[in-house]
Amino acid sequence: MASRELRRYHIAAIPGDGIGKEVCDAALQVLESLKGPLRFTTHPAGAECYMETGDAFPPETLDACLQADAILHGAAGLPNVLYDDGTEAGQDFSLNLRRALDLFANIRPIRLYEGVPTPLARAEPGRIDYVIVRENTEGLYAARGGGNVLSDRLATDTMVMTRQGVERVVRAAAEIARSRNGAPRDGKRRVTIVDKSNVLRSYAFFRQVADEVLEDFPDIETDYAIVDAMTVHMLEKPDHFDVIVCENFVGDILSDLGAATVGGLGLAPSAEVGDKHGYFQASHGSAPDIADRNIANPVATILSAGTMLQWLGQRFGDDRLLKDHVRIRDACETVLRNGTARTRDLGGTAGTTDFTRAVCNALGES
Ligand code: NAD
Repeated sequence: MASRELRRYHIAAIPGDGIGKEVCDAALQVLESLKGPLRFTTHPAGAECYMETGDAFPPETLDACLQADAILHGAAGLPNVLYDDGTEAGQDFSLNLRRALDLFANIRPIRLYEGVPTPLARAEPGRIDYVIVRENTEGLYAARGGGNVLSDRLATDTMVMTRQGVERVVRAAAEIARSRNGAPRDGKRRVTIVDKSNVLRSYAFFRQVADEVLEDFPDIETDYAIVDAMTVHMLEKPDHFDVIVCENFVGDILSDLGAATVGGLGLAPSAEVGDKHGYFQASHGSAPDIADRNIANPVATILSAGTMLQWLGQRFGDDRLLKDHVRIRDACETVLRNGTARTRDLGGTAGTTDFTRAVCNALGES
């Protein structure tokens, strides 16, 4: 194996559909401007790929993802590109990749940056800073492709929770809590388990197993919320939260709500990791309503690309990448704070390319 100093990392980039292509391109420009030890290959997947080839996730793209050191994604899916059963073809990419690479933890930081407007009148930068850890390989989405419609009168999809699946994601959440400084309100390290255990056995099992795992982390406070009430807590007392752990479907919904509290989906990065692979994309989708107009906010994807460097740096013990992660994060924070290139979702007029250029310039000065 190449020595650490000489090692280069292979990033498989999957631009996807809609604004996915624009924000993926923005993140690649930022990464290339670092002149670091990365090499990139680009591969098709998603709804357009399905329309062109009949396959939303070609085997060659899966091979590239398996061989790469990390995967960077724009977004995939178009609401009108559907299978006969009414589900979206483009969703095959992310959902099948998660299974194939066993990406069990979907880590979604929710953080209010200086210079970014929030719809919460009482919130200030620094007072919203938590991480949602969404179980990513089972839960309700495990039923994808396996649901049933009986005689056009009844439909079922089955929720799947395994002990191993719950244990490993809760452990990952607790480790993240250990790496942080606690909740903004009281500085306490806390893991909030969010479920619907008052109604469904599967969620009660999730809570029971989560409780057992958290017994191994006496330094971390265990906290509980039922998902419907949680939507209110996230608006009324976001500074109470440090790390939130939940089932796949619940995490999908809560992370979009969290994003809305810190400026919208364009601000919300995401990292999907397993024991061997890492997959990085924004929390948002392909946003066909604003695609091809150079108005998408690329910061979530750029921040996700930064987290990719952090993950690679920790995995391979490579300080170069750890430093580049901090440089990307700082450059994004500077541009958001200064408002030099404020995109339309944040009330400005800057385009995707303007914001990207501003981040590259800030990196050049760092
Ligand atoms: P979406 O996240 O694409 O868009 C929701 C809203 O947020 C839209 O009004 C959009 O304009 C806005 N928005 C999203 N990202 C933005 C950005 N970077 N800058 C500014 N505004 C932004 O959700 P949707 O409309 O429900 O889904 C559109 C398509 O994306 C669907 O086909 C869906 O299946 C797919 N999708 C893909 C992923 C993924 O690939 N990871 C995730 C979610 C949805």
